[in-house]
Amino acid sequence: MAVAADLRAELLRIVPDERRVSDGESILDLHASDFSYHPPHRPDVVVFPETAEEVAAVLTYANEAGVAVVPFGAGTSLEGHVIPLRGGISLDLTRMNRVVDLRPDDLTATVQAGVTRSQLEAAAGPHGLWFPVDPGADATLGGMAATNASGTTTVRYGGMRAHVLALEVVLADGRIVRTGSRAVKTSAGYDLKNLFVGSEGTLGVITELTLRLHPIPDDIVVARAAFPSVEAACRAAAAIIGIGVPVIRCELLDAMTIGALNAFSGTDFPVSPYLFIEFAGTDSGGDLASTRELAEDQGATAFESESDPTARSRMWGARHNALMAALAQAPGSKAMTTDVAVPVSELPAAIEHARRALDETDLRGAIVGHVGDGNFHVAFLLDPDDAESIARAEALNTRVVEDALARGGTCTGEHGIGYGKLGYLEREHGDLLPLMRGIKQLLDPNGIMNPGKVVAPSEQNGAEA
Ligand SMILES: Cc1cc2nc3c(=O)[nH]c(=O)nc-3n(C[C@H](O)[C@H](O)[C@H](O)COP(=O)(O)OP(=O)(O)OC[C@H]3O[C@@H](n4cnc5c(N)ncnc54)[C@H](O)[C@@H]3O)c2cc1C
Repeated sequence: MAVAADLRAELLRIVPDERRVSDGESILDLHASDFSYHPPHRPDVVVFPETAEEVAAVLTYANEAGVAVVPFGAGTSLEGHVIPLRGGISLDLTRMNRVVDLRPDDLTATVQAGVTRSQLEAAAGPHGLWFPVDPGADATLGGMAATNASGTTTVRYGGMRAHVLALEVVLADGRIVRTGSRAVKTSAGYDLKNLFVGSEGTLGVITELTLRLHPIPDDIVVARAAFPSVEAACRAAAAIIGIGVPVIRCELLDAMTIGALNAFSGTDFPVSPYLFIEFAGTDSGGDLASTRELAEDQGATAFESESDPTARSRMWGARHNALMAALAQAPGSKAMTTDVAVPVSELPAAIEHARRALDETDLRGAIVGHVGDGNFHVAFLLDPDDAESIARAEALNTRVVEDALARGGTCTGEHGIGYGKLGYLEREHGDLLPLMRGIKQLLDPNGIMNPGKVVAPSEQNGAEA
């Protein structure tokens, strides 16, 4: 892909602000990698737009000049999504960080793409509202829409697709389009909004989103219990959800994760697999009793519950630290994270399969799961310079994915494809890839939008020197 002799000078003509068009070493490095083990590759320039019109002007130029553009939110994605494999422009949306409109009567908020999840939560909270999609990291809402993120509350509220009502998108050729509306439903033509959700910056740049909000639930109770095995914990989760306890979150943490959390967060949980559960509703006393009974049917011990908001947020804070806590066990390591999702009834067997496969190797791996959604992660702790252990982790990842596909599941429940999972998308939807590539060709004929990702051939993995 071509890069102008002085790309920065060209871009300064479009965004005439030295602070917002940068090729400084540290800025390039910050936009060269993500949270994963994938090797970094720098962009040539980072641009920080402040309006959709500036995004449009940058894309119009890049499209004509054949320069790659990689949208960048908070950079917390895990499959090399934001790595500019072909150099070019990293388009950092974090200066587009305004909550444009909050409408409590409609339960909606309109935000610019760089607004973070916690920023929206702070704006909605005083109205008794919240935005429940919570990927753990404090990601941008544009990045979350672009990856169709979900998280701990998806079991109750659904992921990003269930929450995006409307989008403003700048297409590769610089056209600004709006999809969806502020109404909660529509039957108006093809659903292009949901095409952009999950498109990982390969079809256009999301500049504004209208999102659904929810009333903050009353009477929230959290419970946690230790289990003799991860399979027993999964069976308990399925039983608790199955009898209709109004679960908001239901998270599995294996013994290695609990040990890592104790060391990282100063907690003192017995080191064994755990379920962390949160529910809210009119009968929290009865729900708590049922939860305890069903957990104890599966051998649970150390059952504890609390409703104090500080204690609840401490518990979820510990859960959100799981990946960081695991990485802290092996300083300098990076994570490769599997992300399969299976039908909920298949989850205990799928996790057992992954656990056995992991035990057969000497790789270090922690298992956590959004078990109410049938989605779990094995996080391998890897030395990014040790090609041999990366290859072994990839082989194990492939076994986990093949098992999930055989059970009627998917290779990625929430993280997306980036370029780390190109081969798995081929395995899962090889027959649909020509259609997906046709859509990419229609919307981005010059291939400038985040090249090398999602629909690229898997053998083209890797950065251009
Ligand atoms: C500790 C940890 C825990 C995590 N847990 C979860 C989890 O539970 N669930 C989950 O879903 N994810 C999880 N993730 C992954 C990550 O947080 C999500 O993928 C998140 O949605 C990425 O948002 P971001 O703002 O960081 O996007 P980025 O990483 O910056 O970008 C992600 C992708 O979206 C594109 N993009 C970004 N902004 C835009 C835009 N405005 N328009 C078009 N394309 C854009 C980028 O080009 C890239 O392809 C976790 C990550 C970490 C580090």
